[in-house]
Amino acid sequence: CGIIACIGSDDAVGELLTGLENLEYRGYDSAGIAVQNGSDVTVRKRSGKISELKEDIAAAVPAGAVGIGHTRWSTHGPPTDENAHPHTSQSGRISVVHNGIIDNHETLRRRLMDAGYVFESDTDTEVVPQLIEYHVDRGASVEEAFERAVDELEGSYALAVMAEGTDAVYATRQDSPLVLGVADDAYYLASDVPAFLEFTDRVVYLEDGEVVIVTPDGVDHRDRTGAAVDRDPEHVEWSA
Ligand code: GLU
Repeated sequence: CGIIACIGSDDAVGELLTGLENLEYRGYDSAGIAVQNGSDVTVRKRSGKISELKEDIAAAVPAGAVGIGHTRWSTHGPPTDENAHPHTSQSGRISVVHNGIIDNHETLRRRLMDAGYVFESDTDTEVVPQLIEYHVDRGASVEEAFERAVDELEGSYALAVMAEGTDAVYATRQDSPLVLGVADDAYYLASDVPAFLEFTDRVVYLEDGEVVIVTPDGVDHRDRTGAAVDRDPEHVEWSA
């Protein structure tokens, strides 16, 4: 239902949780975050309220400058802790948050299971990290693997992806909204501007099929043909 990501923040966990609270109005049944600290990615997720997720996290706050977060409105699989996003690949290297529905998830899941990938959730979303890992396992870079996996998806999606060993967030959309927020010292991604409005009011609206690879140092923005997109951020005026 809602996506938030922050890239280059002093306090990724705090900003992700603020972003998730800002998305609460959209409705949700589960929530979660994944945070990158150099090499490792830590995932914390559960069904229930964001206040409950916050309490769980407060016991041991993962440090990091890059992270992704999600509020889930279940479409495939009941609202359990396992079905909450982020979803990870079998090895845990790839983590994904997704809004929308992957229409061909059954075909992809069968193919990946036949290739030996073990699934942990009932969601349509879990095919995405597994498919990225499938391509990485066969020699693709994370970027190539992301692009190949996205090419194989049918349905509606806004996706934000992190991989161990890189501080980039890979994101794209098709028939589901996704916006990039540009602050002086950080970038944000969200399904909706209010998610990050207290951090920045400079926004780039992504179009269907566009890909952004966002690191703390900059944004690589391309259209579906791979051509560079150079769209300046707009100032949004938003009254709550
Ligand atoms: N289809 C996905 C799921 O059921 C994502 C739903 C959403 O957009 O929150 O987990």
